[in-house]
Amino acid sequence: MTLPLQTALSAALLAAISAPIPAAAEAAPTPHTMEALAKACSGHDGWTDPAPPAHVFGNTWYVGTCGISAVLITGEKGHVLIDGGMAEAAPLVLANIAALGFKARDVRWILVSHEHFDHAGALAELQRATGAKVAAVKPAAAVLETGEPASDDPQYGDLKGIAPAKVDRILTDGDSIVVGAIAATAHVTPAHSPGSTSWTWQTCDKAFACRMIAYADSATAISAGGYRFTDHPGRVAQVREGLTRIAALPCDILLTPHPSASAMMERFAGKAPLIDASACRTYAQAAQQRFDGRLASESKD
Ligand SMILES: [Zn+2]
Repeated sequence: MTLPLQTALSAALLAAISAPIPAAAEAAPTPHTMEALAKACSGHDGWTDPAPPAHVFGNTWYVGTCGISAVLITGEKGHVLIDGGMAEAAPLVLANIAALGFKARDVRWILVSHEHFDHAGALAELQRATGAKVAAVKPAAAVLETGEPASDDPQYGDLKGIAPAKVDRILTDGDSIVVGAIAATAHVTPAHSPGSTSWTWQTCDKAFACRMIAYADSATAISAGGYRFTDHPGRVAQVREGLTRIAALPCDILLTPHPSASAMMERFAGKAPLIDASACRTYAQAAQQRFDGRLASESKD
């Protein structure tokens, strides 16, 4: 039987009106919040576990996976991306940038915390996809350009190679990468690897409250089997220097390349304060204690 057109339309209209409103639409968390990110990553902290992007503060956004950070700083003249995670994470980082409404082609610079495959593995692909320039301190740049782990890295032997990227600028301590109103300052903090770099920048919210964000590099001094820090006094001095510098970073909001290293997801979830000017000092002191323990255990061997 064929219904007259008017009857068919009324029936369709009636069905639409009487259809229940999906409960999920009402209860859905606001997209791109830190709470939504923490919830999505609850129970998932794998290095390639996909995460939604999130707004952190001012012009600063989280675009990494659940287990490895990637941080986007945005501006009208272009953006700065710090870290890209594992090689497999590159498509997710690009998708997260797009989901926030930003264009990958507007990323002007890509920076790194350190030269290991879990943070710099995606760098070459991200550089290709964005057309961005790469800047790094000398020891990191050597690894990024060759793709080969450094033989003076205590973790040498455990480290995977990465796809080589083109390094456009070599940085020294205190140099800043400037894009419009963005100024990200490099701090040489070689506690975890020879090229370890921490980054700080000021960011302001819509109410002109301004905070210093410290993206402090990994602080844990670990090694491949058989390596003894006590046989490398120069390396020990570098670790101590790196930790001293991390403790002294301007640091209202601490972000770290491994979110778990500073309970970032718990802080994003609101279970601990996100803004804490003592966070870098606490983070460095804990690493110093672990390192002292390592040296003490080596001298007992
Ligand atoms: Zn590392």
